[in-house]
Amino acid sequence: MSQDFDATRLSLLLNDLRLPAVKQIWPTFAERSDKEGWPAARLLMALAEHEIAERDRRRIERHLRDAKLLPGKTLENFDFDAVPMVSKAHVSALCAGDGWLRNGANLILMGPPGGGKSHLSSAIGLSLLEKGWKVLFARTTDLVQRLQVARRELALESALNRLDRFDLLILDDFAYVSKDQAETSVLFELISARYERRSLLLTANQPFGEWNKVFPDPAMTIAAVDRLVHHSTIFELNVESYRRRTALQRKQQGPGRPAHFATPNNVGVPSLHENE
Ligand code: ADP
Ligand code: MG
Repeated sequence: MSQDFDATRLSLLLNDLRLPAVKQIWPTFAERSDKEGWPAARLLMALAEHEIAERDRRRIERHLRDAKLLPGKTLENFDFDAVPMVSKAHVSALCAGDGWLRNGANLILMGPPGGGKSHLSSAIGLSLLEKGWKVLFARTTDLVQRLQVARRELALESALNRLDRFDLLILDDFAYVSKDQAETSVLFELISARYERRSLLLTANQPFGEWNKVFPDPAMTIAAVDRLVHHSTIFELNVESYRRRTALQRKQQGPGRPAHFATPNNVGVPSLHENE
């Protein structure tokens, strides 16, 4: 490096240019470049690529902090064999293809408790986030509560606008909204505000027919369901609770007990050999 090189000034310039990663890495890259005789263009390219990679990493880190996803729930540790009605290829396509998010289409996961709806929805959110999309995971009742407060403070519109920056809003346990929460219908306003613009991913234990208590009246329920399903993919995870199933499997595989004794289906069912 030349004697009259002013490293302090370079640091200041890089600050002004907002290139923190270059500022941090250039001495290492410059030393290698000097030692290995890189052409100047190669050094410049290496620095630019490093800055971009760091920028992407920081952005994803920031999005991850904002997203409030469920910790540890990924597609890698989701057992697709447990939900044969959900195709892994279809889920992968949704996680790769950005068509539905650009069009504000929705995804709805339905099924009984324990079937993996929250896990799968958070994992899909994570996968999309890693590709640069902005995602927010929320329990529906918590979000409704926040929106109700905003409405009371005459700030519902700005609260909805803040949610607009999320490409995907995951509303977990959609049908758990209580009657008094339903009365203010903030959820309907949220659905209407996002319709055909911004995507929703809903999970629900109850089928559409039982969503009456989520909204103040049947007409609004119909209007809301209509908007939600208009452009949507629906997965039905009609499986037995994963936790219960795995607990049973462990029991069945455990030593000392014949497998058929472990299933609760046998409870109360007289054995064929009872009277022998
Ligand atoms: P739901 O939201 O449908 O009630 P959850 O997603 O909360 O169900 O699943 C309950 C538990 O079982 C969670 O710990 C989840 O990680 C796990 N689980 C459910 N389904 C699967 C699956 N197919 N593969 C791996 N873990 C699963
Ligand atoms: Mg759940």
